[in-house]
Amino acid sequence: MKIIHRIGFRATDAQRRELEALGVKVPAGIAMPGGGNAFVAFDVTEGHSNWIQIRTLLQRWDISGGAVRTKFSNAEIAAASWLELGAWHHGYPQPNEGVFGYRQATYDLTDWCEQCSVGMTQRASFQMKGEPTWGRNSMLQLVWVYDEIFVKPELWTSVFKPHGIGCRVVMNTKGAELKTVVQVLIEEEVGIVTDGLPFEECMRCRRAKYLPITRGAFPSLTSGPSQAIVKTKEYFGSGGQANKRVLVSRDLARALAAGNVRGAELRPVAK
Ligand SMILES: [Zn+2]
Repeated sequence: MKIIHRIGFRATDAQRRELEALGVKVPAGIAMPGGGNAFVAFDVTEGHSNWIQIRTLLQRWDISGGAVRTKFSNAEIAAASWLELGAWHHGYPQPNEGVFGYRQATYDLTDWCEQCSVGMTQRASFQMKGEPTWGRNSMLQLVWVYDEIFVKPELWTSVFKPHGIGCRVVMNTKGAELKTVVQVLIEEEVGIVTDGLPFEECMRCRRAKYLPITRGAFPSLTSGPSQAIVKTKEYFGSGGQANKRVLVSRDLARALAAGNVRGAELRPVAK
């Protein structure tokens, strides 16, 4: 497991030399409008032999530790019983994306909070502009809808259906069924161990949502799911964004890997 920081700032020549002396490869940088120091962006892993000094330098310069992400080895992914599943982000849910028209069209909003966005329940098929331009991918997530997975029908048939997982049609905005995409039906929800997870409490509805997990494994489950794909009961996100997370069993993850499925991203769930 590698914890990676994406650092970005406008570097002076002196700062660049100090970082390079610690073994950081600093790229040429991008000239900024109005001149001044070029903007540089680069990755540093916490496993870097000079990580402590690098972090200290950045702190002294008042530069943020950057966006953190975690890269897992194939062995770590293979050893996990459950994995968080993410997919290629492609397209916006319809209709009227400028005013989030998909909410009314797709969800029962009785328990929905407009402040924190917790509490939507799906009541109708998702709508897309048209058939997805899949390229070499066969799994996607719509922007804003990070608790649903959409796949090519043949992928549902070959991988999801044998695991007892259903699917749901996707429509275009004129009410016609799309032919090259289905929604994977995720019916079961599971709780996670939330001790120590940072969260926001909504001022309006008082419900909690957790900050997205970017560092290390996904939190442990409180019980063993019976289905091969489930959602968390808990919501994640910040501000006006709230989504549950999608988890898959090791068997399903292996079937996806064996099918060489493009567009899937896996994070181990802690034991
Ligand atoms: Zn709320």
